[in-house]
Parts: sequence; C-alpha cells; structure tokens
Amino acid sequence: MRPFDYRAPQDAGSAVAAVAARPDARFLGGGTNLVDHLRLGVAEPGLLVDVTGLLPAGIDDDGGGLRIGAGVANADLAADDRVRRRYPMLARALLSGASGQLRNMATTGGNPLQRTRCLYFQDVTTPCNKRSPGSGCSAIGGATRQHAILGASEHCIATHPSDMAVALTALDAQVEVLGPQGERTVPFGELHRLPGDTPERDTVLEHGELITAIVLPELPIAARSDYRKVRDRASYAFALVSVAAALQVTDSTITDARIAFGGVAHRPWRAHRAEQVLRGATPSDDTFRAAADAELADAHPQDGFDGGNAFKIPLLTRTLTGTLRDLARQEA
Ligand code: SF4
Repeated sequence: MRPFDYRAPQDAGSAVAAVAARPDARFLGGGTNLVDHLRLGVAEPGLLVDVTGLLPAGIDDDGGGLRIGAGVANADLAADDRVRRRYPMLARALLSGASGQLRNMATTGGNPLQRTRCLYFQDVTTPCNKRSPGSGCSAIGGATRQHAILGASEHCIATHPSDMAVALTALDAQVEVLGPQGERTVPFGELHRLPGDTPERDTVLEHGELITAIVLPELPIAARSDYRKVRDRASYAFALVSVAAALQVTDSTITDARIAFGGVAHRPWRAHRAEQVLRGATPSDDTFRAAADAELADAHPQDGFDGGNAFKIPLLTRTLTGTLRDLARQEA
C-alpha cells in the first residue's frame, strides 16, 4: 500500500477545503470500499480526509418526506420504522446488500459512491479504462457475466454495484452536496453517469464535493413497493439483475408506477419507458412483460468467455414481471 497523509478536520467545511486543495486527496467515511482499494492498489491517494463524525447522522421528517444525514449507517436506515413503512423498497434494497457487519459501517453518503466490482477494475495487473484511462477495457470479450446490457460504451461495460442507489433512483430522491463553491442539490437520477469516453468518472460530483444528506420526497405510491435482487449466492453477492418497483392500482387500472433496474448499467437505470407502458394499463403478466420489452428494446448483451450476459434480458423480464404481479396483488 502506498503511504498517505491523514487528516481529521473539525467540520465538513474544513474537510471539503482540505480535499479541494489537493488533487490526490480523498474523503474517508465508513471505508468499506475505499480501504479495499487501498489494499489492492486500485486507489493510491496522497491524503485521506476523515469525515467520520462530521456528517449529519440523523433521519429527520422533511415535509412528508425524510432527510437522511450522510453519516447514517446503512443498518440504521434499513431499520428505521418510517423507511420500512413509507419506502419499503429502500429498506429491502439496503438489507439485500453486503453483510450485517458492512451495513453497520457503510454510510448513506458513501454507499452510492462505491465503485464497480468489475473483476478487471480490481485487478491492477489488467488494463482498465476506469482505473487507468486510455489503457483499454479487459472486460470486453472477457468475463462479462456481471456486466452491462444497457448504456455501455466501447470504453467500459461495467455495472454500478449499489442496491440502495437503485431504490433511491426509483424514489426520485435528491442529493445535498457541499463543495468548494458552496451547497447544491442534485437529483439522485442525475448523480451517476454513463461511461461514454470518460469511464473514470462515476458521478457528476466534482473533486472536493461531499454528499451531506439524501432527501426522500413525500411519495405515497412508495408505501406499496419492493426491491427484488437476483444473484449467484443467497447473500453477500452483487446483483446480476435487480428491480426496485412501486405500483399504484385504482379500479383495475395502473395509475402510477416507479421502476429502476440494478446490475445492468453503469448507473442505476430508471425505467421510464416501462413506466410509460404501465400507466393507464390493466395489470396483467402481458402488460408487465410489455413494459420490460419496451425498456429492454435497446439492450446490448455482451459476449464473453464465461458465456456472456444475454441471460440478463429474460432474467430481468421475469424479475420485473414477478415483482409487479406481487405488488398488483397487494393493491387488490
Ligand atoms: Fe475497466 Fe470498465 Fe472495462 Fe471493467 S468494464 S475493465 S471497469 S473499463
């Protein structure tokens, strides 16, 4: 591991100033992803600025919604009664991620910023445009089982690993950010990027910007919602595909829907086309499959020596159909 300087400022503003002043500085929160990267040599910061204890660690009512401090542990957020009742997809997404020990350490602000678990990204002996821009993408034509079928580029086909971020995308959350230029708010659905020709950038955050809170809007539809994750092991594994969905049915008609997919793109994938198909339709397996077909019309599976990832299209179609079928029954 490369030696680095360490600082523990007294407040978030000082932490932002310290990181902004050095291009090789990074924030250190729960450390559940960054410490792995330090050990692997994936990240080699010259300075770590510890924000543990500096960020809000409460969950506060905010109008009809909730303001979640960036310092709230994933385990505490998943256990919050208001989250479980009003946004069950978020509680279930959190509980489907990582392990109990990791959820105790991982934070609300850090979870969405975790980096891809692409095997080649984490193996510093292989070319990877995300880790080392311009070096190439070892995943293309390599092992692609975990990789993207939507929104990929010729430079990167990685997927985003966070379950929590998929639910926050479906819920139209907002991200509060403190940076060198002051505060700003970013819609959660615009936080993460597609890879394009700059896959080294995961998000729209600038160097020195720090997430301070995530705000959930008042969203009655979210009380009937679910998160369903399909993976190679029953626990402690990343999604092959996942679905965050909320459905509102009135008089046998779908009046509203919120859907996002995980495990299929460089960012959590908001399924606007699927939502459009669902609104005004009669709930049925045919409707739900048509919604999946609409969203996946532009999917491009990857070949790979491990068999590739074309299986994700039927798997995601079945996962979405089953999730919506169960939500529609809850409404009946
Ligand atoms: Fe790197 Fe992205 Fe290619 Fe993985 S898919 S090797 S992260 S460039």
